[in-house]
Amino acid sequence: MKPSSYDVCIIGAGISGLSTAAFLHQQQPDLQVLVLEKSLQPGGAIGTYNESGYQAEWGPHGFLDNCEESRTLIGLAGLERDIATAPLGAFVRYVCLDAKLRCIPQKPLQILKEPLIPWGAKLRVLADLWKKPLAGEPTVAQWTAHRFGAALLPFADAVFTGTYAGDISRLKIDAVMPGVRELEKQNGSVIRGVINTMRDAARQKKTPKKGLPAMTSFTGGMAMLPQRLATGLAAKGHLVYGNGVHSLVRETAGWRVLAEQGEVSCRHLVLALPVNISLPLLAGALPTMPSPLAAIPEARIATVLLGFDDSARIPFGFGYLAPEQEQRFTLGALFSSHMFPGRAPAGRQLLEALVGGRHHPRRLDLADDQMIESVYRDLGQLMELREPPCFTKVLRPRSGIPQLEEGYTALLAWRNSIHVAHANLHLCGFGWKGIGINDMTKEARKVALRICTQALGQEKNEVKGVYF
Ligand SMILES: Cc1cc2nc3c(=O)[nH]c(=O)nc-3n(C[C@H](O)[C@H](O)[C@H](O)COP(=O)(O)OP(=O)(O)OC[C@H]3O[C@@H](n4cnc5c(N)ncnc54)[C@H](O)[C@@H]3O)c2cc1C
Repeated sequence: MKPSSYDVCIIGAGISGLSTAAFLHQQQPDLQVLVLEKSLQPGGAIGTYNESGYQAEWGPHGFLDNCEESRTLIGLAGLERDIATAPLGAFVRYVCLDAKLRCIPQKPLQILKEPLIPWGAKLRVLADLWKKPLAGEPTVAQWTAHRFGAALLPFADAVFTGTYAGDISRLKIDAVMPGVRELEKQNGSVIRGVINTMRDAARQKKTPKKGLPAMTSFTGGMAMLPQRLATGLAAKGHLVYGNGVHSLVRETAGWRVLAEQGEVSCRHLVLALPVNISLPLLAGALPTMPSPLAAIPEARIATVLLGFDDSARIPFGFGYLAPEQEQRFTLGALFSSHMFPGRAPAGRQLLEALVGGRHHPRRLDLADDQMIESVYRDLGQLMELREPPCFTKVLRPRSGIPQLEEGYTALLAWRNSIHVAHANLHLCGFGWKGIGINDMTKEARKVALRICTQALGQEKNEVKGVYF
């Protein structure tokens, strides 16, 4: 790599870095942008696994189509014709309660209509209307029990097992659902907040969102998205692989980036990296602004792929999640060949079961055959699996899932203070303001806007839908 100077240098070619580059190109095509990537391929946590006609995912299986930034990105990647969707309205999910798979409605309020919880517990939910907001930073478990009653804890657990592989007695509500917490504090109650928001929208004659969103992937799996975004950049020499960045130096008019293949100078520097990779780089670059945390916890999972013939009675839908109180080996499983076509050969079905997470990191030490055996035994108690699996594989993703626990809100405030102090340093990526792909594309677009307009946008916390 020749020593050179760029308008923008982006570190990391995961979805955050690649979307930042795509949004920058969309807004200001004449900007000189360079992306530096440590590994030899794009995508970071995103990767698709193909073997013997089965297609599975190392990381994300999809993202909901209710995010404008992600929809725009699909257009910029030219992937509109390769989209595979599974609408939440048509593909049910299950929660494991009392060792049985119970079909759950997709919206939290609909849970109240179903016979999943007793009547007394349903009435308790209304206590939200007069319960004062808890002070400080309660955990998701404390907050849910306080506002809606302990009967809803297994459902909260299922939501945060499905998204964070996390522990609701450690995840902080202010960190994982800042929009809902703000609604609660402003209105004194979540239910009242939702009603007021709907009333305001009706007054402003805003068209209500139609129906439930759809889970989105691509015909060739999730890897298609980063690969397509990266191809154009790499062809023009705007993306360099095998070029890990090891230090950053502040200069009068920008930054100097020291990487494996040499140095680069840039006006704007974007760290599109997981929080735990950004923190040591920032510690070296900004010694006068120490981070309140040295690192944040991460949850690791393994994905166990099981292929079955048609005799397996896998219930129709997305899959299931098992709250911790059920004490099961498997956190949950995706019924992948139901969700998207082409995930298993003809006459076969594919299940992707999740193991480990924040509660059970030691289970990841098991050998592949022991893990497969334990998952098969566990699933066999929940559904009719007449024959043993005809295909098995254990995927052990390298990326951990950032856990937004104690100290996270202080960390986010610190990131904001960096943005105020350094108009040409931009932090986005896995664990900064959320962990999902839609969170990453939203943050990437904010970074691109900030670079193009030099504006530091207002940090407004959005109320995200809760889907199971
Ligand atoms: C197991 C798992 C399941 C998930 N499931 C879902 C899901 O179903 N839906 C969903 O929406 N989200 C899901 N996610 C989250 C989603 O994958 C992330 O939001 C997203 O991929 C993060 O992208 P990123 O670019 O910010 O970070 P990363 O994907 O981590 O990319 C960072 C990139 O930076 C590179 N890099 C690291 N250090 C350096 C360095 N020093 N110099 C240069 N380059 C460097 C890395 O090699 C990597 O390519 C899941 C994540 C995991 C791990």
